[in-house]
Amino acid sequence: MTDSARDTDPPEHEVVVVGGGPAGLQAALTLGRVHRDTVLVDAGQGRNAPASHLHNLITRDGTDPAEFRRLAREELRAYPTVEVREGRVTSLRPAEGTTGESGRTAYLVELEDGTSLRTRCVILATGVRDRLPEIPGIAELWGDLVAQCPFCHGHEFAGRRVAILGAEPATHLAGILRPVAAELVVLTHGEEPPADLPSFVTTVRTERVTGVGRAGDGLEVRLAAGDPVRVDGLFTPTTMRQAAPFAEQLALGLNESGCTRVDESCRTSLPRVYAAGDMAHVEALPMPMTSVAQAIASGMLAGSTAVKDLVEDEIG
Ligand SMILES: Cc1cc2nc3c(=O)[nH]c(=O)nc-3n(C[C@H](O)[C@H](O)[C@H](O)COP(=O)(O)OP(=O)(O)OC[C@H]3O[C@@H](n4cnc5c(N)ncnc54)[C@H](O)[C@@H]3O)c2cc1C
Repeated sequence: MTDSARDTDPPEHEVVVVGGGPAGLQAALTLGRVHRDTVLVDAGQGRNAPASHLHNLITRDGTDPAEFRRLAREELRAYPTVEVREGRVTSLRPAEGTTGESGRTAYLVELEDGTSLRTRCVILATGVRDRLPEIPGIAELWGDLVAQCPFCHGHEFAGRRVAILGAEPATHLAGILRPVAAELVVLTHGEEPPADLPSFVTTVRTERVTGVGRAGDGLEVRLAAGDPVRVDGLFTPTTMRQAAPFAEQLALGLNESGCTRVDESCRTSLPRVYAAGDMAHVEALPMPMTSVAQAIASGMLAGSTAVKDLVEDEIG
């Protein structure tokens, strides 16, 4: 126990990783590789849980996201200094008397089950959640026939008729999907079509979309007027928000995206608190780069930066 810890405090770990998606799992692996005392706490499903396959990850292209997590946890069992706990963290705060001029930091991590952890470093990897357009049927088909990212879902619609919802993303998404889809339909949902919409978009419908439902192995999109549209898949933008309240609890700096601002080494605005994966946003980039591969890369970086900082604390 350190000088600043009280008798009633739980024993101090070196790192607590909050969130066991690709970012948190990789961070734990990186820490385990150099035998750092690490606890990973994970509440369960990640952002891509509605999808049955994850794509664009070399050696695991097409793997079920749940299987990806199972494999990662199995690999972590080889590292005795890493403990994986099922559970939800409810609160995170600096331990009393450990921040400030002394430079000594520790954090208290409280879990829903009433237990708590004390740690020198925290890696936040709690991800984001998507707010979907409020159109009946979209939520039910999300991650299956309705998707956001052509890199994750595009190839599955090869040679098919694909719709893009919304005027704003239409030109960009159509450009990405052109070599993949046989036909592209833009549904502007009551807005004016963009002036720069490419000519290879075969159909443009400007009526409001009132609902989406499964039809055969594709979709029927119902509109406020006129015939419904039959397509094989639909792409829609979403709004992202952080899945957990810790950036707010710790008053971490945020970027306009709402994601936690990190430097190139995954450090947040608070000493010994790091963020990785979808919830972390390097300010120099226009938006958080959200993908499994990117989450893994930043998890590795957050883990190795925490090690660097621990080493500096230990030997200067
Ligand atoms: C439908 C869909 C399909 C996708 N398909 C792909 C794809 O094919 N390829 C690809 O590269 N990307 C895909 N993505 C994006 C991908 O899911 C994310 O980029 C990736 O999951 C980010 O990993 P992460 O570790 O940051 O967060 P997540 O995977 O979201 O994991 C966060 C973890 O933190 C846990 N957590 C949250 N709050 C707490 C708390 N309070 N206490 C403890 N644990 C907590 C959650 O339970 C979760 O397990 C897809 C996204 C969506 C929405």
